[in-house]
Amino acid sequence: MTTLVWFRDDLRLADHPALHAALDRGGPVLGLYVLDEESPGVRPLGGAARWWLHHSLASLAERLRERGSQLVLRRGPAADVVPEVAAAAGADAVVWNRRYGGPEREVDAAVKESLRGAGVDARSYAGNLLFEPWTVSTGQGGHYKVFTPFWRACLEQPPPRAPLPEPGRVPGPVRYPETDALADWGLLPTAPDWAGGLREAWEPGEPAARRRLREFLAADADAYDRARDAPAAGTTSLLSPRLRWGELSPHTVWREAVASGRSVGGFLSEIGWREFAWHTLFHFPALADDNLNARFDAFPWPPLDAEHLRLWQQGRTGVPLVDAGMRELWATGTMHNRVRMVVASYLVKNLLIDWRHGEQWFWDTLVDADAASNPFNWQWVAGSGADAAPYFRVFNPETQAKKFDPERRYIQRWAPEYVAGDAPVPEPLVDLGASRRRALDAYDVVKAAA
Ligand code: FAD
Repeated sequence: MTTLVWFRDDLRLADHPALHAALDRGGPVLGLYVLDEESPGVRPLGGAARWWLHHSLASLAERLRERGSQLVLRRGPAADVVPEVAAAAGADAVVWNRRYGGPEREVDAAVKESLRGAGVDARSYAGNLLFEPWTVSTGQGGHYKVFTPFWRACLEQPPPRAPLPEPGRVPGPVRYPETDALADWGLLPTAPDWAGGLREAWEPGEPAARRRLREFLAADADAYDRARDAPAAGTTSLLSPRLRWGELSPHTVWREAVASGRSVGGFLSEIGWREFAWHTLFHFPALADDNLNARFDAFPWPPLDAEHLRLWQQGRTGVPLVDAGMRELWATGTMHNRVRMVVASYLVKNLLIDWRHGEQWFWDTLVDADAASNPFNWQWVAGSGADAAPYFRVFNPETQAKKFDPERRYIQRWAPEYVAGDAPVPEPLVDLGASRRRALDAYDVVKAAA
């Protein structure tokens, strides 16, 4: 009666439906995490994500040990590794929470088939989204392409279930299959160790995630609607990497937010955007590669200016808010949402660099980089995505800075030379007005192709 729990983007013990089901079976339970960089189509993790994963796995392994079980670590294609570990553990059941990306679903289907072929029970559960993608559809049976009716349809469903309790004890088996050593996976950067800023900014793992949720609801939630767009205000939840790695389930966030008695409608609708991004990826698995709106396939991208791309990555474009944002990203693995929109718009429209280059950089540098939200939001900014910003609404980074960082506190923090005026500042790469007109001319080609 041994059950193997295959952990993926759900590195927690509380509200973990698969773990809960494993414990309900009554026998010994052990955990498995597979670092799968070989299955076709599964996107290798970026550098900042690998850093987070290392620490979050260390935390999960310790928490399982404290409760009586262990986390087995293995590297390789999951379709081979999971059945192998199940056999080595003598498990008669393997359970997991579902994933929603195309290649991941294929891997999971192959694992299920191979386990069942070997007489092992294999079951998947809903743990990482509030609403399963196939349960939300338009009157005509299609999927939503616009957020407001999507979210309305979600809210008309039965409310998200109550979170499942965190188990006090997880009884382990007598013997465990062999495990890799986490340190041998090389997830942490060495030569050079660029993660100093990440260590300062974050404490990965479920206990810190729970603390941050409580702190946000107690201290910041009331100011959220008013100040969420101000990058220096620090009133957003900073829960995105917690949700990305599943250290918190969206159900826990939802229930605690509602129970807090604060005015959380605006915050919860941002959780709704997360759902919308994942539902979009479920229906359009090529989200990171292909324009959701195929009309944009005609967009006349000029040949890549690699120097402009590099200066944007380094935060040396000569535009204060853009440079501040790109430096915040490099230092901390995150960037405020408003600034993400501004730097993305600047890259795609003012520099006329294909959104895929920006998406790839964010993929590599964000601790919350996820397969749905990242390409979804890049396409939103680029105009080719779901419910996208109309192409002609080109953000002006100077106006955005005046409006959302009027005292220049954010710019002062990340790109101080623009405020102090005592050191040379980078020359602007392009003229904002002329580059905006060039973008609109390029867009005319898309319009003509319609
Ligand atoms: P809060 O404002 O406190 O929001 C609460 C939660 O809602 C977030 O933690 C997040 O899970 C979700 N959320 C909020 N806004 C969005 C959104 N627009 N799309 C999807 N979910 C949202 N978010 C990611 O989680 N991963 C990404 O890889 C990612 N890439 C982005 C790329 C670009 C170009 C842009 C413009 C946005 C991107 N976002 C991404 C969305 C958003 O910027 C972050 O979720 C947000 O800044 C995280 O900060 P927070 O947790 O304090 O958010």
